[in-house]
Amino acid sequence: MSPTAASSTNHHHSASDAHSIPLLGRSVEELTAWVQEQGQPAYRGKQLHNWLYQHGARSLAEITVFPQQWRHTMADFPVGRSEIAYRSQARDGTVKYLLRLADGMTVETVGIPTAKRLTVCVSSQVGCPMACDFCATGKGGFDRNLMVSEIVDQVLTVQEDFQRRVSHIVFMGMGEPLLNVTNLLGAVRCINEDVGIGQRCITVSTVGIRDRIRQLAQFRGQFTLAVSLHAGNQRLRERLIPTARNYPLPDLIAECREYVQITGRRLTFEYILLAGVNDNLENAAQLAQMLRGFQSHVNLIPYNPIKEADYQRPDAERIQAFADALEQRHIAVSVRYSRGLEADAACGQLRAAAK
Ligand code: SAH
Repeated sequence: MSPTAASSTNHHHSASDAHSIPLLGRSVEELTAWVQEQGQPAYRGKQLHNWLYQHGARSLAEITVFPQQWRHTMADFPVGRSEIAYRSQARDGTVKYLLRLADGMTVETVGIPTAKRLTVCVSSQVGCPMACDFCATGKGGFDRNLMVSEIVDQVLTVQEDFQRRVSHIVFMGMGEPLLNVTNLLGAVRCINEDVGIGQRCITVSTVGIRDRIRQLAQFRGQFTLAVSLHAGNQRLRERLIPTARNYPLPDLIAECREYVQITGRRLTFEYILLAGVNDNLENAAQLAQMLRGFQSHVNLIPYNPIKEADYQRPDAERIQAFADALEQRHIAVSVRYSRGLEADAACGQLRAAAK
């Protein structure tokens, strides 16, 4: 791919880089403005939009409705599509992809099929700076933010590979989405308006970054926010999420309450269950106490083993006992048994491979 793609910035659409950032991620209005800048008639914007998002064009050279001469000159303009470097499929049908980006870096994405749904678990960063102790991605360090095009590309790649419409998106792959909030919101807009996936079918998962949850609330989107809590007290949380030191639990919870107030939307709290660490009934009681009267839902995630850590998943009875303890205290709760375990495609198992 053209070197301009690699050198473009992570930020979407500033006047100076409007020529080098990939086309994927742009709205029909932006694409129309762009074709006109190239001396083409406005209606080619709609054609370009259709070829990018419906036909999955990987290069302008493929767009046969465009004039031969122009297709040829623009053949190297970055569209923003990745290459599948590696693909592995679990017995349950979950597929993990290692995608090679224009600058040679790689990122993982996961396609999770059920009878009624096809969910894509997308990454928002190459690596992750949050360094959670139980997560494989955090063990590999951080490289860079993903561009809007690189996020949207993951959705199109899974859709094409499965030959089936993607119905749901979860921002639960590699990276911390709220550290890349501009491109996150650009990608949400595009996935919703251009790819055509309802915002209510999109979930953004975050460890919680100060003031960014409020920023999301102001976007007034219809997507679901999931906050990775993992502990009902600050000391335990810091042990699991070292970066949580900068953002004490009471402040995080206060910002979450504000989010619910502004958006009127229920929020999900994720809680990983680690045997002997945060899974006893006292932990459950403390969590329930903290969330009392909060319009929320707790999603318990039994730990998926990674080779870089030696935590254990609690047994089924213990998981159920934890869930029951929350329910008795009137906390809405569900248990998420991750798919794709043996393909290393489950929550927390994504890691950057050979760069
Ligand atoms: N950075 C964001 C999104 C990525 S992780 C966040 O932290 O929310 C998506 C979910 O998977 C998070 O709740 C995360 O804590 C959880 N997770 C990470 N490692 C895990 C593991 N080994 N087993 C189970 N869940 C894990």
